[in-house]
Amino acid sequence: MSGGLVEATSWDEDREVVEVRSPLDGELIDSIVGSGRHEVAAAVAAAHRAQAEWARVPAGDRGAVLARLADAVRDAADELATTEHRETGRPREQARAAVEAAAGTLDEYAALGPVHRGRSLNGEHDATDLMVHEPRGVVAALTPWNEPVAVACGVLGAALVTGNAVVHKPSERAVRTGVLLNRVLAAHLPEGLLGSVAGGPRCGAELVADSTLDVIAHVGSTAAGRSIAAAAAATGAKTLLENGGNDALIVDAGIDPEHAAEQAAVGAFANSGQICTSVERIYVHRDLAEDFLAALVEQARRRVFGAPAADEIPMGPLVAEEHRAEVHRKVRDALDAGATLLAGGVLPDGDGSYYPATVLTDCRPEMEVLREEVLGPVAAVRVVDDFDQALREAAADRHGLAATVLTPDMAHAQRSWRALRVGTVKINEVFGGAPGGAAQPRGASGSGFGFGPELLDEMTATKVVHLVPPVLPGT
Ligand code: NAD
Repeated sequence: MSGGLVEATSWDEDREVVEVRSPLDGELIDSIVGSGRHEVAAAVAAAHRAQAEWARVPAGDRGAVLARLADAVRDAADELATTEHRETGRPREQARAAVEAAAGTLDEYAALGPVHRGRSLNGEHDATDLMVHEPRGVVAALTPWNEPVAVACGVLGAALVTGNAVVHKPSERAVRTGVLLNRVLAAHLPEGLLGSVAGGPRCGAELVADSTLDVIAHVGSTAAGRSIAAAAAATGAKTLLENGGNDALIVDAGIDPEHAAEQAAVGAFANSGQICTSVERIYVHRDLAEDFLAALVEQARRRVFGAPAADEIPMGPLVAEEHRAEVHRKVRDALDAGATLLAGGVLPDGDGSYYPATVLTDCRPEMEVLREEVLGPVAAVRVVDDFDQALREAAADRHGLAATVLTPDMAHAQRSWRALRVGTVKINEVFGGAPGGAAQPRGASGSGFGFGPELLDEMTATKVVHLVPPVLPGT
């Protein structure tokens, strides 16, 4: 076993230079020359060569290798978390917890891979009829900056344990974290089995255009997902798209407004609002709107930059200055269109791309803050007259990732999980759920299982085998 990073094979003009600037203080911390066309092609070719051998390794042995990868990630947890903190601004303890979760995911796939089995069918008495899973081949994994280690470990773990090879392109905004993770993992894998390419969308486009890829797994923005799906349509690669969300939160009459505000704040402000399932739109019943909004403003004021007091919650910066500018533009556009600012919404002085927890009310359906993912700490509120209006408006959206409903009414709970065309519906809790849950996003949020045991099905092709005894001469 040896390191699997593909070294530069040639220099050409199609390389991107990725400037890594820390959002904590704006300092330039690195300048990375991205992978060129030849390196991308070399990584894919090396992956194909390594995959043929890896597919023959017994599933139990592949599982054992995955368990070693989990240990390697735990051993490197401090370095990974520190790198992610510096590069994306995510608070170090949160980055560290996400690395632990990533190792846990590798352990899960280490256990699930060997028991991911086919079926025997009931055919003719003399026949053997089977359904078996086979690795698909080479998987291109394109991963985002907002969960760079845990998302990558999920995709890579499921692909590798089922006998595939992977070429991983981490986000340019978490390139140092992604390349470090690839190096940590590749040290325990056969040469070439995990290729690592680095760069921006141009490098990604080069990778997904490779006509020899079998699967493209993209976890990232809806716009990039659409472009990748178009590239895959031209080559025939299977796509798995886990893309952006515009998650609704419905706050029904009869719910405790303080508790609802706590839930809304966790959903909208955790990781500075940069979670795919962040709460993006809040529909609150008129009966409790005033109390809910007052409590939500208080929740926003408790989110602080720097050292928090006892009753405060620390919040990191947004990932990049351009990203902050985009979040702020969406907030300003909403205010220009008639929304009311109750908290935040003002660019703070000083270094770093910090943005305050922001509460907007009087939002209307046509505003971008309700129609599109904002990916910042912005709670956009719309006061509604009744539950029917809340459900109708929450459901009228092109995204389909997740939604939450806070309601004391079981009939409303039942109606809402049926009506919301999303992958995950949460009743009376914004985050949480049993281990192993795997949902399919819909619409603009993508397609295919991106997590859980079902991701093993996505990473394999099912083959039916019908086997009968040969007919020999003279019988
Ligand atoms: P992104 O799509 O810009 O980048 C993700 C990866 O795709 C990067 O490696 C990037 O370089 C590459 N890429 C971008 N454009 C490309 C193109 N045209 N062709 C090929 N590759 C391309 O996403 P991001 O900004 O890094 O991540 C944030 C987004 O990811 C948000 O929308 C968030 O909701 C979403 N996300 C979704 C999930 C989920 O499970 N649904 C999880 C995490 C993040």
